[in-house]
Amino acid sequence: MASTHTFDENTAVASTQLARFADAPLPHLIDGKPVPSASGETFANTSPIDGAYLGDVCAGDAADIDAAATAAHDAFAAWSTTPGTERKRILHNVADLLEERAHEIAVTECVDTGQTMRFMSAAAVRGAANFRFFADQAPSAADGQSLPTPDHINYTTRHAIGPVGVITPWNTPFMLSTWKIAPALASGCTVVHKPAEWSPFTAHMLAETALEAGLPPGVLNVVHGMGETAGKSLTEHPDIKAIAFVGESSTGSMIQKQGADTLKRVHFELGGKNPVIVFDDADIERALDAVIFMIYSLNGERCTSSSRVLIHESIYETFTQRLAEKMKGIPVGHPLDPSSVIGPLIHQRHYDKVCSYREIAEADGATVIDGTPYADAPEDGQWVTPMLFTNARNDMRIAQEEIFGPVLTAIPFADEADAVSIANDIPYGLAGYLWTSDVTRAHRVAGRLEAGMIWVNSQNVRHLPTPFGGTKASGIGRDGGDWSFDFYMETKNISVALGDHNIPKLGGNS
Ligand code: NAD
Repeated sequence: MASTHTFDENTAVASTQLARFADAPLPHLIDGKPVPSASGETFANTSPIDGAYLGDVCAGDAADIDAAATAAHDAFAAWSTTPGTERKRILHNVADLLEERAHEIAVTECVDTGQTMRFMSAAAVRGAANFRFFADQAPSAADGQSLPTPDHINYTTRHAIGPVGVITPWNTPFMLSTWKIAPALASGCTVVHKPAEWSPFTAHMLAETALEAGLPPGVLNVVHGMGETAGKSLTEHPDIKAIAFVGESSTGSMIQKQGADTLKRVHFELGGKNPVIVFDDADIERALDAVIFMIYSLNGERCTSSSRVLIHESIYETFTQRLAEKMKGIPVGHPLDPSSVIGPLIHQRHYDKVCSYREIAEADGATVIDGTPYADAPEDGQWVTPMLFTNARNDMRIAQEEIFGPVLTAIPFADEADAVSIANDIPYGLAGYLWTSDVTRAHRVAGRLEAGMIWVNSQNVRHLPTPFGGTKASGIGRDGGDWSFDFYMETKNISVALGDHNIPKLGGNS
């Protein structure tokens, strides 16, 4: 969805928002109050557009996490017993205010992350929609099942698990945070949020907005800081009952180890290297548009991106030529310019990683098309043109590793069995896409792909009641619909005898 605001309008709103963050270090929000780190430590936040200094951010550690977890613990009794209808009302208020501020949130996200306005304007609105969707389910969240026998009535109820930790990445930080935080709050949990250190601003805006909308202090707390300090302490804190994490697979492993001593329940949404299979009977024009969209939108910094395209060998040459032509027409530009599709990459370290795959591809013998530094970028900006690798094999690093940038690897396949085998020959299993006009093959292949989500003849189109999540190294658990509530709540079974059923007598006849 294209933004309706001009570049000048976006720039004006961005400078007002950023002025707030430049004046004083961005604080944590604990128990409803902005507070500095106990240690007084801060770190600098810079923009990927031109390397400009955006402001300091408080660097939290174990002491700040402890203060936030205590606030979440103290707020839990009241919030978890607040009637679901009242939680619903407050969370709809949050959504109303987020919609009012969607433009401010979107431009801030663009400057902080490098994502373009074309996609961020929709992401901010989708954040509000997440709040509405889960708010509507708050009144029935505790409902259970009736499972009677002739002698007993068994019924289940659900109860919020307690204070939870939410740890989020930098790729679309605002939208992803709402995707985790909204169902947690709707369930009756209280939250400590540790946002990604490379994109801290909109997490503050979310918590600030929620407070203004009437969310009681202590129900949503934010602690900024590094993963190895603030994030680690959150995963180890005994008052935090569960961790909802979105990020890299290797970080997920660390979190599972860190949370072992306190037996944390975990929900992981991790990396992906998702295949899109294009059979020779596919609607080629629609497949081309979908393949391009699913790798070059959101800077390719998208967990469900179709970063491996598997193309039937009979159409491989023409399909990759058309891909290259279309790719070259994608506008790279300033994130606040409504005509830009690809913006700068989040951080110098990530930019270097993405660019390094040009040499890796060449060394492995693939053909590299574009992916060069963008010529008109500001001096310290991390801008790159979209990249395409052809003549690739699935055992190459460009096919096996998550690059997480605007980079597509095109691999030919011989037949259906070959396509399925290549698609599944990967440590990840988040999403799979397939294009064919043969309906029986569509179902057959969809059933064989090792992934949590499959789209047939479609790009990723989310429907909030459906399950979202991955298999293999791509995750543990599912979000969306009632799956989210199952994670943030404990199910209890209550069994009541209906009469004089038999009770075994073990102590003789007296
Ligand atoms: P990351 O794992 O480096 O960081 C994510 C968060 O974890 C950050 O807030 C970070 O500070 C924190 N963290 C780091 N080390 C930690 C530790 N030891 N303990 C606790 N917290 C720690 O990920 P990233 O680079 O920010 O994000 C990109 C990754 O996220 C990609 O792999 C992408 O596929 C994945 N992602 C997955 C989904 C999904 O739904 N599956 C969605 C978006 C992004």
